[in-house]
Order: sequence, then C-alpha cells, then structure tokens
Amino acid sequence: MAQRTLSIVKPDAVRKGFTGAILAEIDRGGFGIVAIKKLSISKEQAEGFYAVHKERPFFDGLTTFMSSGPLVLLVLEKDNAIADLRKLMGATNPANAEEGTIRKRFAGSIQENAVHGSDAEDTAAFEIGYWFAGYELI
Ligand code: ATP
Ligand code: MG
Repeated sequence: MAQRTLSIVKPDAVRKGFTGAILAEIDRGGFGIVAIKKLSISKEQAEGFYAVHKERPFFDGLTTFMSSGPLVLLVLEKDNAIADLRKLMGATNPANAEEGTIRKRFAGSIQENAVHGSDAEDTAAFEIGYWFAGYELI
C-alpha cells in the first residue's frame, strides 16, 4: 500500500548545488512528490523537528547546521516509502554508505549528510505534520 515519508534535502546539499541531482535520484527510485517547498528554518524550528535527539551531544551542531541556509522539504509517496527511501539514502555516516546511495555520492560528513528520511510510520506522520498543512498535501 502506498505510504508517505518526509524527506529533506539538507542545507549542505542545497548549498553545493545538488538539489536537482538528488531529486532525480528520488524520481528514479519511483517516489511520487506529494508536496515540495524550499525555505530557511530557524534554530527553534530545527530544535522542534529534531526534539527526539535533544539529549544527544550533536544536537546543538545539528540544529545550527539545519538552520544555516535554505533546505528543501518533500513529502514522498510510494509502496514501502519509508524503508525504500532510507535504503536509497544510505548510512547516516557517508563513510559507511553503500555505493550508489545518495549519501555516498553527495554527503560530506556524518552531520552534513545531504538528506533526511523519516524512520518509521509514527515519526513520518509527526514530521509531515510539522512542516506541511493538510491543504498542501494533495
Ligand atoms: P536523518 O534523521 O537526518 O534522516 P538518520 O536517521 O540517518 O538521519 P539520526 O540518528 O536520526 O540519523 O540523526 C539525525 C541527524 O543527526 C543525522 O542525519 C546527522 O545529520 C546528525 N548526526 C547523527 N549522528 C551524528 C554524529 N555522531 N555527529 C554529528 N551529527 C550526527
Ligand atoms: Mg533519523
């Protein structure tokens, strides 16, 4: 059954001009784009989005990075979208990412790792609702 997931082209990838190439990979992966928008987020918005990581040592660096420049928010749809997107993205640390994955090709470091993808159905629902209103989800 078709499933939705939240993806982000992170500020590092936007800055380096990789947005189009990453969208092409997502398209080639068979994902439909339900919604898309480019914007700059505040540190507070990043902190709310990554609240699950609040106690982690990388939280401050991560939220500073995510608010450092424009990013592209995407709601994607396909069968098994959550797991399939994470497979297409590759490991969090690009040094461990498989050949051909988005992070292997476009990520610079474990923090500046080019893309985000929701990790479960409940987090996907939270993340989609965090960035998109119902009327934006056609
Ligand atoms: P994402 O949630 O962005 O899709 P992920 O699920 O692979 O990535 P998480 O463990 O949820 O990884 O971490 C969220 C984000 O925090 C990572 O994508 C990365 O940008 C950053 N991060 C994770 N671990 C570290 C670390 N050890 N040092 C610096 N940044 C990190
Ligand atoms: Mg995650």
